[in-house]
Amino acid sequence: FLQGASLTTSREKEGPFHTRLFTNVEGVAPKPPVPVSTGGYSPEEAAAEAGRCLLCECMECVKHCEFLQHYKGYPKKYAREIYNNLSIVQGTRLANRMINSCALCGQCERICPNGFSMRDLCLGARKEMLLQQKMPPSAHEFALEDMVFSNSPSASLLRPEPGRRETAWLFYPGCRLSGTSPSQVRDAYGFLRNFLEGGVGLWLRCCGAPARWAGREDLFRKEAEETLRIWKSMGSPVIIAACTGCVDVFRRELPEIRVVSLWEVLEKEAMPEEFLKMNGTLAVHDPCTAVDYPEIRRAARSMASRAGIDCEELPMTAELTSCCGYGGLQECANPELGSATASSRCGESSSDYLVYCAMCRTLFARTGKRTVHLLEVLFPAPGKDPLSMPAVSWSDQRENRAGLVRELLRTLWKEESPMPEEHEAIKLVLPEDAGKILETRRILTDTVKRAIRNGENSGRKIARPDGAFATCLKPASVTYWIVYRPLEDGAFEVLNAWSHRMTVPGTEGSLP
Ligand code: SF4
Ligand code: SF4
Repeated sequence: FLQGASLTTSREKEGPFHTRLFTNVEGVAPKPPVPVSTGGYSPEEAAAEAGRCLLCECMECVKHCEFLQHYKGYPKKYAREIYNNLSIVQGTRLANRMINSCALCGQCERICPNGFSMRDLCLGARKEMLLQQKMPPSAHEFALEDMVFSNSPSASLLRPEPGRRETAWLFYPGCRLSGTSPSQVRDAYGFLRNFLEGGVGLWLRCCGAPARWAGREDLFRKEAEETLRIWKSMGSPVIIAACTGCVDVFRRELPEIRVVSLWEVLEKEAMPEEFLKMNGTLAVHDPCTAVDYPEIRRAARSMASRAGIDCEELPMTAELTSCCGYGGLQECANPELGSATASSRCGESSSDYLVYCAMCRTLFARTGKRTVHLLEVLFPAPGKDPLSMPAVSWSDQRENRAGLVRELLRTLWKEESPMPEEHEAIKLVLPEDAGKILETRRILTDTVKRAIRNGENSGRKIARPDGAFATCLKPASVTYWIVYRPLEDGAFEVLNAWSHRMTVPGTEGSLP
């Protein structure tokens, strides 16, 4: 005051003021003040009065998110760590993994009283670190390679309806569903052709979601431009998408494309003749990609109730739904966390689950939760209980996609499919433990066949005293080792497999 300084500047937060700190007082019973006795509080009274105080903290988002709990902090702390990680020359392994482990589901932003978005923070950090070449590509490599395969001639397909030239509609099941439920994709396509006018084409392709989640803007833009070009070449038909992830990508990134959800289209028609009458309660899990689409969530429930399903709502449902663990490529970057996220979601109800996303089905079934995909109810496989079906392995998903292309080309368009490659003729015998090793280490049977073909043709293999061989192959940045035993009937029994990123001289070379 004597120096002429303001007595009020920068002192706004002294005394009472409105805080943005939210503290959930639900279930907290109010306690009356402890009356002050003459001479002040005794130690016990002081403790009782102090005990009325709440531990004021928010943590609302953390309560519901396995990822936020896993790293034992809260968003403010993570924001600081992410900022620090962006500032150093190379990101630390731990922080990189954390940045890549968010499911990008947006639930935290919807819950947060201040609208804080970990999704924006983590996705922004992924993009920035990739631009600055600070982020190792390994975290998302498997998913990105899978996307490339889905859009290769072996697994993609674009055709107008057999016998028709015009294409008013284009059925787009999505790469995941073609891998997990190829026969349902085939049957749904047949059903749509029965009642839609103007020609219903088929488009098997990946929408580019893995590149978008990985923060690979370059790859995603390339895929999106190609999608737009192909769509226009078909006369700009209405896309009927079975996957809400594809709907979300099209609506946000390619708004020119008119896309409707399969469930909205089916809802307007009579039920398929062979649909499975369920007559019971199932808990509905909404995929995190459906949070902005209430019309799709409603249509899925409407189809379920027409199949006799009594839909139970989970505590976190609709726009507040929790991710299954696959979103944002969480399961790819951090398999243990992906599996913990799926288990936590599966524990929210003792009922069996109904889903309408292929990856939610895969992740839940892997935990042992009885889960059915809505398409399996509408177009059931004869003689099978879809609730008891195990998750489809990564290798089988790939083979199913390629097999679906071959089957549809042959049966619907009477076309020869591309000649199989030499390694595809190799017969593998896969004991249960070897199958588990391949699945958890994400080594595809296709890679195993290529490695064995390479080892057998080139002679580059190590003989073991027990008659088995070890060979390796480095198709891109990863070297795969396969231990196998030739069998008398010409098949090869797989005994072990692993991979690493070291370079072994003599194993370089791309897959043919
Ligand atoms: S996983 Fe979902 S809820 Fe959790 S921090 Fe990421 S975006 Fe938020
Ligand atoms: S980010 Fe939002 S919901 Fe989460 S702890 Fe902070 S204020 Fe609460």
